[in-house]
Amino acid sequence: DKYKEGLAKTRGSFSGKINDLIARYRKVDEDFFEDLEEILISADVGMATVMDLIDELKMEVKRQNIKDSEQVREVISEKLVEIYYGDETAQEVEQLNLKDGELSVVLFVGVNGVGKTTTIGKLAHKLTQEGKKVVLAAGDTFRAGAIEQLEIWGERVGVEVIKHSAGSDPAAVIYDGVQAAKSRQADVLLCDTAGRLQNKVNLMNELSKVKRVIEREIPGAPHEVLLVLDATTGQNAMSQAKTFQEATDVTGIVLTKLDGTAKGGIVLAIRNELHIPVKFVGLGEKMTDLQSFDAQAFVYGLFS
Ligand code: GDP
Repeated sequence: DKYKEGLAKTRGSFSGKINDLIARYRKVDEDFFEDLEEILISADVGMATVMDLIDELKMEVKRQNIKDSEQVREVISEKLVEIYYGDETAQEVEQLNLKDGELSVVLFVGVNGVGKTTTIGKLAHKLTQEGKKVVLAAGDTFRAGAIEQLEIWGERVGVEVIKHSAGSDPAAVIYDGVQAAKSRQADVLLCDTAGRLQNKVNLMNELSKVKRVIEREIPGAPHEVLLVLDATTGQNAMSQAKTFQEATDVTGIVLTKLDGTAKGGIVLAIRNELHIPVKFVGLGEKMTDLQSFDAQAFVYGLFS
């Protein structure tokens, strides 16, 4: 299926290395754990998460009195899933927090090039398929071509795009987006925003202004603030997440381009270290290449 296809690179690299490790070591000893640690770090699982995991594994191996490396395979996948769900707020498959029968607003944030516009297009398609009426607001008035790109997605998916001219005030675009979505009785408004990180303070001020407009117009909105991160950027994505987390209440992550990396372990690091749920993963450039994130399927997919 799509999920497996999209993760082929990570799976190929990860399960290959684990198999190799298990073949090389008959006994589960200190060296075995050291090599495993390296494999996990090279898959971008993240240092802190790897340390947690190795500690847990060692305890479990002791508890179950495991001697044979072959037996440890199952324990590794179990612990990977546990690490992901370690946070009690984690759900099996993360759902978007949308209101039934009234307008919900989803604000997208993230730096340029991570796949924000593409993700909005894909999500618009997904929600439309579910029978929801969707409106898009072209709040990235800064990046050249961003408005046109969103319009192309709008046409492709068959949803209306609210826009102003390039360089105009994003908060004004979002305000118009909200009014349009209300008057069309839309179910969901998806808002694009700029992602220039060269001037962090300006960008964060702009995002707060946009958020305030939404809050003022619709009590309880935005219902989701989704941070889009590019899985191929590894630890860079982690530091972006920290920056945005400080500036705004991020409610979920969309991790894009998982199809383009062997380092899919970043998903576990995000959940374990930042405590933000991964709501969707991007597994390609097409309209249908956005999947809800399911940690168990993800981890077990790595080993199959
Ligand atoms: P933005 O600047 O954040 O709005 O980024 P764009 O939406 O323009 O995406 C940047 C590039 O990444 C485009 O070429 C997209 O087609 C590509 N892209 C986005 N998501 C994915 C994904 O999940 N997989 C792959 N392979 N490419 C993606």
